[in-house]
Formats: sequence, structure tokens, C-alpha cells
Amino acid sequence: HTFATRNLASMPPSVAAAPAAFSRVAVIGAGAAGLVAARELRREGLRVVVFERDAAIGGTWVYTPATESDPLGLDPGRGIVQTSLYESLRTNLPRECMGFLDYPFSSRRAPDGGDTRRFPGHREVLRYLQDFARDFDLYGLIRFHREVETVERDRDGRWQVDSRSVDEAGGDGGDESEAFDGVVVCNGHFTEPRIAEIPGIDAWPGKQLHSHNYRVPEPFTDQVVLIIGSAASAVDISRDIVRYAKEVHISNRSLPDEPPRKQPGHDNMWLHSMIASTHSDGTVVFQDGSSVQVDVIIHCTGYNYHFPFLKTNGIITVDDNCVGPLYKHVFPPSHAPSLAFIGIPWKVAPFLMFELQSKWVAGVLSRRISLPTKEEMLEDFEYHDWLAKQCELPPVAEWRNLMYEAAGKNRVARPESYRDEWDDDHLISQAEEDFRKFSY
Ligand code: FAD
Repeated sequence: HTFATRNLASMPPSVAAAPAAFSRVAVIGAGAAGLVAARELRREGLRVVVFERDAAIGGTWVYTPATESDPLGLDPGRGIVQTSLYESLRTNLPRECMGFLDYPFSSRRAPDGGDTRRFPGHREVLRYLQDFARDFDLYGLIRFHREVETVERDRDGRWQVDSRSVDEAGGDGGDESEAFDGVVVCNGHFTEPRIAEIPGIDAWPGKQLHSHNYRVPEPFTDQVVLIIGSAASAVDISRDIVRYAKEVHISNRSLPDEPPRKQPGHDNMWLHSMIASTHSDGTVVFQDGSSVQVDVIIHCTGYNYHFPFLKTNGIITVDDNCVGPLYKHVFPPSHAPSLAFIGIPWKVAPFLMFELQSKWVAGVLSRRISLPTKEEMLEDFEYHDWLAKQCELPPVAEWRNLMYEAAGKNRVARPESYRDEWDDDHLISQAEEDFRKFSY
């Protein structure tokens, strides 16, 4: 697991002035994290308001062909499109270990006409989240078309949440300001592009975009495309585009400076080391000494954390793309437990982690769970099991960890076909056995 937070395992619990009881809690965002947070907070008897700037639930999983006005996503004044999905996207985790603990994302859920594949397309994930919101009656908690602009602590220790209506159809919204005892931040972190620094790029005449604004391959027909990156988006998008493009070149900064390698199974796709320089005649030179005349560069280089609404006077910062300080990647000690973040770590099984973090936050806010002592915090638990223990749940079933690992290994071993070929059928049987406990 990779955790992009400055984790303060040794930090004592916060003693900031906080209300004695947390009765009203604001959740920012109605993606997978915000939905499960809302469910858990309400289960603990708290009154929940979810602010969602979009017209629908689902966040990342609400695909749209629309892209942002600045294809690189650098213009701070651009209209934001939340999703970074491309049309062809299928999940990169097997559905059994992608879903919430007690609401299996099993293929049984996909009725006739649904997508029963083990690595389904993105529409199936949105359907799953819509079912989840419906079955747990969450829609009534959500204020759609409301963008949170400011979250600031007032003198009483409560959080002032200012939001504005972003209903393009012209609802009666306007600006609102409301006080809450707690705020749970679930605004997602796959929307604010991070781009590669490339020597000479200002004079380079080609087109550039970030994968956030990639949707379909057809516009790249007969083009020479350079993809920067080595993670899931780079692997997927290169395979999507190679069917249309004249050539696809992938630059991976962790590769040694060896001559470019042709990708197995493709006549027009090569893997290169890092870019050394770009030039005004359209040439891109790699550190291995090779050079290519390129039409388009696609930055598949990840995302930055971004909390433009948070006014905490520098107590929580995003430094070198690490959010912190956060205790167990969730609570900023100086504001704990009234401010919490769900979903900060990446390279995790997202829904499982959202659910466990949400249970913990809800239990702490309802005063059922105490924040641990310094000694306990220093104990070395596996992160998911540590969260589960706080919520008095059993450790996470072993098949989930094994399947997550097996899927990662399979993705590396079979980049072309990992969604259709695997060796962990025995783990699927264990998952299905486990799912029998749930009646949904
Ligand atoms: P989001 O889904 O981004 O939701 C955040 C919500 O907050 C949005 O609805 C947004 O409108 C709202 N919001 C933001 N700011 C404000 C504001 N100021 N005021 C009000 N509302 C606001 N995960 C998997 O498990 N399996 C996969 O296969 C997988 N594939 C992925 C592929 C891609 C290309 C990407 C980008 C991500 C993928 N993920 C995958 C990770 C995915 O992001 C998570 O699964 C999950 O959907 C993130 O949920 P979230 O609620 O944290 O954020």
C-alpha cells in the first residue's frame, strides 16, 4: 500500500476545543466515499447533510464525454469536470474485492442486461453505487448542485460551511452558510491534474493533454502519440489509442536508459525511458538517445490533492502532494475529531478503505469509539485491520488481501488480458462463500 499522507502515528489525540456532542455533520461530496460516510454517520445516529456540486451521485463513476476547456487542466478558472473516466474503462480491480464489505459487488447484482464481467465497465460501478444509495435511502440526505466554497472553524469550535448553488438550470439556491459540529471531507482526488515537467516544452509545437481529459481514441487516428506514465491509465489509454494511432510511444521514467522496446503483440507501440528534451521542430528526444517526431503528448501522470474550500490557517497542508498532518490518514490532530478526511491513501482497495474509515469516523463522532492513546497508536497494525478493530469488526477476510495482490501481479504479467484471464478462481469461491452472509 502507498499512503500519500504525512502519517502521525506518534501524535497524541487532539485536544482542540470541540463541541461536547457532534449532532450535525456535513459531508462534502457524494461519490463512493461520501455515500458510505453518510450511511455510517446516520447509522451512528448523527444528522447528516451531504453537499454535492453535481446533479447526481457517483463522482468519478459518472462518465461524461465532456472535457475541460484547458486540456492540461492547469487554468484555475476552468470549469471543472469531476470524472477522469474514458469511455472504454473497465475496473482494474476484480469486482469481488472492489465492493463494500456488507454490500457485495457480486455479479449476481447485475441483472439481465447488466455487465456481469469480473472486471466490469464503468457503467456497472455507477449502477452499483446508485443501488447502494437507494437501498440505504441516502438520496434524501444529499443537497445536489451545491458546491462547498469555504469550510472554516468559528469561535465556538463549530464549522461554518459556505456553499453556493451551481444549478445551471437556475434553481433558487443562492449562497448558504450553515454551522456543523463536524465535517467529513470526501471530495475525491482524481480531478486536479499533475503534469510532467518536460525540458523545452514551451517551444514544442504539438498538442498536449492530461489523461483527465481523455475520453475516446478516434481523435488520435493516424497520429504519433506519446504517453507519459506507467500506472493504470497509461497502460489502458495506450492500448485504447494504439488501434487508431499511427504510432504510440510510452515514456516511463523508471526505465533504464536502454534502447526503446517494441511492446509484445503490437507493431506500432514502443516503450522508452524518460524524456530528455523536446524541440521546436516537433522532435522528442529520450534519455536513451532515441528520438521521435510526435503529434500529441498525453500526460498520464496522476493527480494532486486539492481542498480549495478548506480554511485552516495552514494547519492542514498539501506539501509535495502529501496531505498532513493526519493521524492514521484520517484525522488532523489539531482538529480531531470534528474534521476528518475519507479516501486520502491511494493504491488501496478504495471502497473497502472508505467504508472502514467512515465507520471509524462515525464511531468517534458519536463518542462510541475513543481516539486511541499514544501507545496504542504506536502499535503496528495492518491499516485495514487496525480500522476494523477500532469499529469492533473482525479482521478483513484474507481472500480480500490475497485477491488484491493477485490482481496486481496479474495486471503486470498480462497487461493486455488481465481482465479476462486469471489464476485466482479459488479466491472467487471464497468470496462468494463470504457473500452468502448478506441478503442484498
Ligand atoms: P469522487 O468519486 O471523485 O467523488 C467526489 C465527489 O465530491 C464528486 O461527486 C464531486 O462532485 C464532489 N465534490 C468535489 N468538490 C466538491 C465541493 N467543493 N462541493 C461539493 N461537492 C464536491 N477505484 C476502484 O475501486 N476500482 C477501479 O477500477 C478504479 N478505476 C479508476 C479509474 C480511474 C481513471 C480513476 C480516476 C479512478 C479509479 N478508481 C478506481 C478510484 C476511484 O476514484 C474511487 O473508486 C472512487 O470512486 C473515489 O471516490 P471518492 O468519493 O473519493 O471521489
